[in-house]
Amino acid sequence: MNIILLGPPGAGKGTQAQILVDGRNMIQLSTGDMLREAKDSGTEMGKIVADVMARGDLVTDEIVIGLIREKLQGDKKGGFIFDGFPRTLAQADALGELLAENGETLDSVVEMQVNDDVLVDRIVGRAEAAVAAGGEARADDNAESLKIRLMEYYKKTSPLIGYYYAKGDLKSVDGLGTIDEVSGEIAGVLDA
Ligand code: AMP
Repeated sequence: MNIILLGPPGAGKGTQAQILVDGRNMIQLSTGDMLREAKDSGTEMGKIVADVMARGDLVTDEIVIGLIREKLQGDKKGGFIFDGFPRTLAQADALGELLAENGETLDSVVEMQVNDDVLVDRIVGRAEAAVAAGGEARADDNAESLKIRLMEYYKKTSPLIGYYYAKGDLKSVDGLGTIDEVSGEIAGVLDA
């Protein structure tokens, strides 16, 4: 089973992806994680994307499509969870083509619905929790970058809701509950 988790920053995509990895032996493909790894290991690509990410802008379609292309050729276990990808219509088209080339299909697109006030609280909370635990907050988990990330989401990513609805793949869940409630809802739509 291959699925997309779709939702604004702070909707809980990463948390829910991890639950699906543990429970269903799926593989999480988070372009955000891949880009942060590239940045931390100081690769050429990492240097190019660091400022873009810190600002909250999207990196180019070409870069993220390249990252996903590579991963689709690896082990697919219980299927792929696309987390934070696709974020543009061009990425969505590319994903469809890449899956087809690999003899795969997309089973569901799970839209996690969360209102904007909650997103801001969650992201500020995530930054504070990271610092309290002795770590560092993500460079883009601050009010300034969040505004841009939300705007990027509404301008470029939210059209994917209509795109996948029209394809008949969209399933929406309420992302406002507890982690267990949301994972229960996701299981419900995936197993329906
Ligand atoms: P995330 O961890 O998914 O919130 O992603 C963090 C940042 O990485 C985003 O704000 C973008 O700068 C970049 N990014 C992650 N995934 C994508 C994508 N599919 N397309 C463009 N930029 C991305």
